[in-house]
Amino acid sequence: MPDYGHPLEFGTFITPGNDPPQNAVALAQLSEQLGYDLVTFQDHPYQPAFLDTWTLLSWVAAQTERVHVSANVLNLPMRPPAVMARAAASLDLLSGGRFDLGLGAGGFWDAMEAMGSRRLTPGQAVDALSEAIDVIHGIWSVGERAPLRVSGDYYHLDGAKRGPAPAHDIPIWLGAYKPRMLRLVGRKADGWLPSLSYMQPGDLARGNTTIDESATAAGRDPREIRRLLNVFGRFSPGRGQLLNGPSEQWVDELLPLALEDGIGTFILGSDDPATLQQFAVEVVPALREAVARERGSLGTVEGTVRSAVARAKRRDGIDYDAVPASLADGAVEPGDPGFHRVRSTYMRAGSPGVVLRPRNPAEVVDALAYARRHPDVPLGIRSGGHGISGRSTNDGGIVIDLSRMNAIDILDKSTRRIRVDAGARWTDVASALAPHGWALTSGDYGGVGVGGLATAGGVGWFAREHGLTIDHLLAVDIVLADGSIVRSSDDENADLFWAIRGAGANFGIVVSFEFEVDELAGDVGWAQLVLDASEPAALLERWGAAIEAAPRELTSEIIMGAVTPGRQAVAQVLAVVDSDDPDTIIDRLQPLAEIAPLLDQSVQLVPYAAVMANVQGGSHDGQGEPNARSGLIEHITPQFAAAAERLLASGDVYFFQLRSVGGAVADVDADATAYGNRSANFSVVAFGSDAERLDTIWEEVYGHFTGLYLSFETDLRVARLDDAFPPRTMQRLRELKKRYDPDNVFKDNFNLAR
Ligand SMILES: Cc1cc2nc3c(=O)[nH]c(=O)nc-3n(C[C@H](O)[C@H](O)[C@H](O)COP(=O)(O)OP(=O)(O)OC[C@H]3O[C@@H](n4cnc5c(N)ncnc54)[C@H](O)[C@@H]3O)c2cc1C
Repeated sequence: MPDYGHPLEFGTFITPGNDPPQNAVALAQLSEQLGYDLVTFQDHPYQPAFLDTWTLLSWVAAQTERVHVSANVLNLPMRPPAVMARAAASLDLLSGGRFDLGLGAGGFWDAMEAMGSRRLTPGQAVDALSEAIDVIHGIWSVGERAPLRVSGDYYHLDGAKRGPAPAHDIPIWLGAYKPRMLRLVGRKADGWLPSLSYMQPGDLARGNTTIDESATAAGRDPREIRRLLNVFGRFSPGRGQLLNGPSEQWVDELLPLALEDGIGTFILGSDDPATLQQFAVEVVPALREAVARERGSLGTVEGTVRSAVARAKRRDGIDYDAVPASLADGAVEPGDPGFHRVRSTYMRAGSPGVVLRPRNPAEVVDALAYARRHPDVPLGIRSGGHGISGRSTNDGGIVIDLSRMNAIDILDKSTRRIRVDAGARWTDVASALAPHGWALTSGDYGGVGVGGLATAGGVGWFAREHGLTIDHLLAVDIVLADGSIVRSSDDENADLFWAIRGAGANFGIVVSFEFEVDELAGDVGWAQLVLDASEPAALLERWGAAIEAAPRELTSEIIMGAVTPGRQAVAQVLAVVDSDDPDTIIDRLQPLAEIAPLLDQSVQLVPYAAVMANVQGGSHDGQGEPNARSGLIEHITPQFAAAAERLLASGDVYFFQLRSVGGAVADVDADATAYGNRSANFSVVAFGSDAERLDTIWEEVYGHFTGLYLSFETDLRVARLDDAFPPRTMQRLRELKKRYDPDNVFKDNFNLAR
């Protein structure tokens, strides 16, 4: 007889009575307090004496914190499966992944018909349930781009939108007794949920055989299917009939159900608090112990099995069984329901073979060691997933995603020293510093990650006043290619520290950064101006001149799109003035407002954290591959401005941006860090949809540049490396690369080893 090795779980089965309605909720809360894993309710929507089960499940999920909730089992024919799938995913998201889906084919047809349901024969009801399971999975499959179309005998969907994806892999458990339903369990379900009181001796064994044969025929491993069982009984001092007696009798009688009939989840049907308590306190631990003992002596391996459907989505060349135990919990594979949340980045579509999500430096070491055992598959390092030059996703490779390492700590108030983990986002850094009246210049978008930006440069809203983000860096902890965790600062591994500030992506995985941050006077001036751009060259030139003439507390950028014939050309000028004095802010902005007719304007006095709170929610769903070209330029000369005008008129550029660097950025010695092009006043970037056409039109502006900030460039050819790093810097970087990463493990972002 089978023992499928499922870790034991326990649930309660509570009557959803409505008199008084809070009873069922209180019993659910008691179940949670008593340590049960699951709370379930029967579902009879035609029964006025009962609360509606969906509503009750939602209420209970909101009134509990840990326990899972499920119907036992839902009456499918009375609910459209697409709506049910969405409701299930919604409740799962709201409850933090605590909703499980017990489903039934329906049964009380007179009552159901009276409520408006179509009467089905038992065979039809099973077929309808089978179709419904496909619909439910289809709605949850947000990774599929095409809308959901199902043309079944019972359900017809014509282009339904998919989603939302549930928070966890919601198991579908079927209440089943007859062979046809049992075969459906074997083919499509994640669990079998009968009641012991409806079973004759031998029924469980026969049911398991039918399920297992059907599962095997469908290419599944029978262990994918959990066996759950509703049990009813009474505690009494003397031994009596089945589950009527003292706790020891219960343990004796449940033990063979676990070991010989493979039951992994026992669900106790009772509304009596004392019974729920006695079972939890006396039966559950004793049964766990007895099962563990028997499994130990028989050598039964305890665990759950990944489904055949999920395994089929695994990629070649990755040893999935060797994922280190420390990372197994957070590892996401293509077959996992959360894969769509981690596969792509902000800019790019991707389809990695596995995304590892370490929670601390030791786990980063494990992840890197695992990745290094796969030298032939691509490796991406991800912090915030906003890489433009850096990939941080791939096709069929490994991604080490640091987003769960996102702590922000104040180390020393008097010196304004903070430590930030690589996976934090800049909006969170700005919010954490705000209560102290501090800020750290980072970038213009709060969703960008700390790890990618603070290893490359960091051109932010206080660039002219306070320099680059890397200019505030005091030390890092970095995992090197050989797996060592090294601290690097001006005093420790100083050459590495030099390299990390500008070319960090080549040297390892920085796990945390220590910065000295700046004090703000108060709120800042935040301006968004819309200007007439019908004379783009003149506008750019005037903007450049105004910036160069402005005091350093002003930092700005100008953004333009393709010029479309017949439509007014506009430019957006964004600026931050580091002052909380309205007169100073207006004074600093006035020259910018005068460079062209002003079409619209918004100037606000806001906390810096509010400027950085411009983050879109949700997971990244970048599409395709971005094409960006970038350069650093000293001044906006008439020749450059004319070339830029032609670039905009070409129609091949849909986003063109100039932003101020200069000021304090140029105060730092060019040899002090690996970010070597410090004399430029402006950084330029253009995005186009066609790389070849972009290259052709870019030729004209390229000659005006004195260097390149690598973060905005997607062309990784060697010539761009020479643009990004002056010869002396480049030579030193290449020597250090050989020393710190001799096998060229870190190569997806401006690879120096070429
Ligand atoms: C919308 C948007 C706005 C931007 N605005 C600005 C801006 O204002 N100023 C500016 O300077 N930049 C800006 N950038 C560029 C941005 O700084 C870089 O793309 C940066 O790499 C993103 O960091 P991330 O951690 O989010 O990226 P990820 O995609 O996670 O990483 C990008 C690359 O950085 C490297 N990397 C990531 N984490 C680490 C780590 N912990 N250790 C070592 N290497 C690592 C890897 O090579 C990786 O491929 C912007 C980008 C976008 C998409």
